[in-house]
Amino acid sequence: PTPCILVVGMAGAGKTTFVQRLTAHLHSKAAPPYVINLDPAVLKLPYPVNIDIRDTVNYKEVMKQYGLGPNGGIMTALNLFSTQFDQVLQYIEKRANEHSLVIFDTPGQLEVFTWSASGTIITDTLGLTLPTIVVYVLDTSRSVNPTTFMSNMLNACSILYKTTLPFILVMNKCDIIDNGFAVEWMKDFTVFRQALSQETSFMSNLVQSMSLALEEFYSNISSVGVSSLTGAGINEFLAAVDKGRVEYWDYLARRKKISE
Ligand code: GDP
Ligand code: MG
Repeated sequence: PTPCILVVGMAGAGKTTFVQRLTAHLHSKAAPPYVINLDPAVLKLPYPVNIDIRDTVNYKEVMKQYGLGPNGGIMTALNLFSTQFDQVLQYIEKRANEHSLVIFDTPGQLEVFTWSASGTIITDTLGLTLPTIVVYVLDTSRSVNPTTFMSNMLNACSILYKTTLPFILVMNKCDIIDNGFAVEWMKDFTVFRQALSQETSFMSNLVQSMSLALEEFYSNISSVGVSSLTGAGINEFLAAVDKGRVEYWDYLARRKKISE
């Protein structure tokens, strides 16, 4: 079956631009993807979309009708959409084999998708139907500060342990800064600790204890440097998808075992 990627990450990390680049790349290789937009609040999409949450729910209307602010509006729109997700999924399943990849773009605010009931429903049902891989997009240029980097990694780490799906870390915006520093930090914790000790000293105990969790996390994921602007790293990314697709069968076996 066709693999499926869920593109998540902090607002502004470059999820939509990454989907745009990846989609253009696959079209140029005559291997078009099937693309689903789950961001109800996006104004304009820079890529051709097959299913768009905005066709089903009007987020502005939802805000008005339920008296909600922007975040509540996005959350409620996603909730309404998730009630029909089984139908959407049947549709995707039918179309998927004519495509190289199924791609989900998610709302700007990470937690709206990763820590909501609807996000969980979508992720879980998808994970039982297609070889699903979580793609965490990181803004590399805004992660040069070791404290920021660590909080980003802890965020990514918590998503991995929540979903337990195959996981790819996309270090985006490599045209602004090379991701070499981040690779080094992930490979050698003493280098990271050194960088951090120049920042703060009061956090060092906390960091020491978290280092174990993060080392375990790093050994469980693939990471790849990408520029969604120039297209650098897209082939390496697709290689990581192939790897994730194999790992998916372990995930499925684990889930089946739990439900037995
Ligand atoms: P999203 O909220 O995660 O969907 O982020 P967007 O895709 O909307 O991108 C946020 C901003 O980052 C936009 O101004 C993009 O042009 C910019 N951006 C995204 N990817 C890259 C990249 O690889 N390099 C550079 N220099 N800018 C990028
Ligand atoms: Mg976006």
